[in-house]
Amino acid sequence: MTENKNQSGTPLSKIGEFKLIDHLTNQFKIKHKSTIKGIGDDCAVLDYSNKQTLITTDLLIEGIHFDLSYVPLKHLGYKAVMVNLSDVYSMNGDAKQITVSIAVSNRFPLEALEELYAGIKIACNAYNIDLIGGDTTSSTKGLLISITAIGEADDKDIVYRDGAKPNDLLVVTGDLGAAYLGLQVLEREKQVFQADPNAQPELENYTYLVQRQLRPESRKDIVKLLKDLKVKPTAMMDISDGLSSEILHICKQSKVGCNLFEDKIPLDPQVISTCEEFNMDSTTVALNGGEDYELLFTISQDDFPKIKANPNLTVIGHITDKKEGVNLITRANQKIEIIAQGWNALK
Ligand code: ADP
Ligand code: MG
Repeated sequence: MTENKNQSGTPLSKIGEFKLIDHLTNQFKIKHKSTIKGIGDDCAVLDYSNKQTLITTDLLIEGIHFDLSYVPLKHLGYKAVMVNLSDVYSMNGDAKQITVSIAVSNRFPLEALEELYAGIKIACNAYNIDLIGGDTTSSTKGLLISITAIGEADDKDIVYRDGAKPNDLLVVTGDLGAAYLGLQVLEREKQVFQADPNAQPELENYTYLVQRQLRPESRKDIVKLLKDLKVKPTAMMDISDGLSSEILHICKQSKVGCNLFEDKIPLDPQVISTCEEFNMDSTTVALNGGEDYELLFTISQDDFPKIKANPNLTVIGHITDKKEGVNLITRANQKIEIIAQGWNALK
């Protein structure tokens, strides 16, 4: 763990804005025919002809959303792209383009931005995304990154949050809670490092957790899987703030209730062992952790045979009438009302 490696290197003031933008972006190649014009004019130009256009944006601020004392800039670039693509996939759409806007202080040399863009480029290549523009400006202190993702979908394929119906099944992809625990591990190592700068980080037992925190993936594969299985969810969203708050969003917008079964929540073995070590309840971590970027969706019971054998998908509950409320059914078969405790940026 190193405290801010970004101090030395080529000062940004030496380069000039136009050369900087060119330097950071000239390695990105346009891949999609829907991108008519990318970087280099006053606007990018897109052509989605008869498709619907999906647009989503996220703002990440140093000290609020990330801590550069343990987040490598390359990972940060990758994650910033993932966070946005995840929102496009959660509409059952296909992401095609991004814009990237940054504000940087003179504390960051050119080499730091090269790292950030290296991560952005890896993400664009892995997920087949065109970088089509952005903005570059200075900040007094920290780093700000705002990414907008643009995607497409057929009108009939788009899945909103408000379509869940009583008796639908509630399904989640992958496993939950690991990204939050990864953050706890990194925070702990930061404290150790601050007390003793010679201490070596102990991360071997937590590789999956740290990877889920620093370098998450977004579930493009699930959009394809659902198409292949001929399943269209009735409602869908991605898990950024935590399972409990996302379930509440779907239930509120769909005007339904839900029973979530504690013993069905998928957990990685490393989540279970680390919860024991940290004396935390794994269900609480899965419900309130956040940043998993898995997909949460509801399907008609008729579609259950199509998904039941898939190891990526776990049925964790079912939708009920609104008057039943939103509940966790515990391992002891107790019914507990779910309240939002997810991560809240305004707290
Ligand atoms: P304008 O003066 O119209 O805002 P800029 O000089 O800021 O234009 O940008 C020139 C071109 O470079 C535009 O196509 C813009 O979208 C793109 N661009 C600017 N900053 C970035 C960035 N950080 N990442 C990617 N593209 C960028
Ligand atoms: Mg500009």
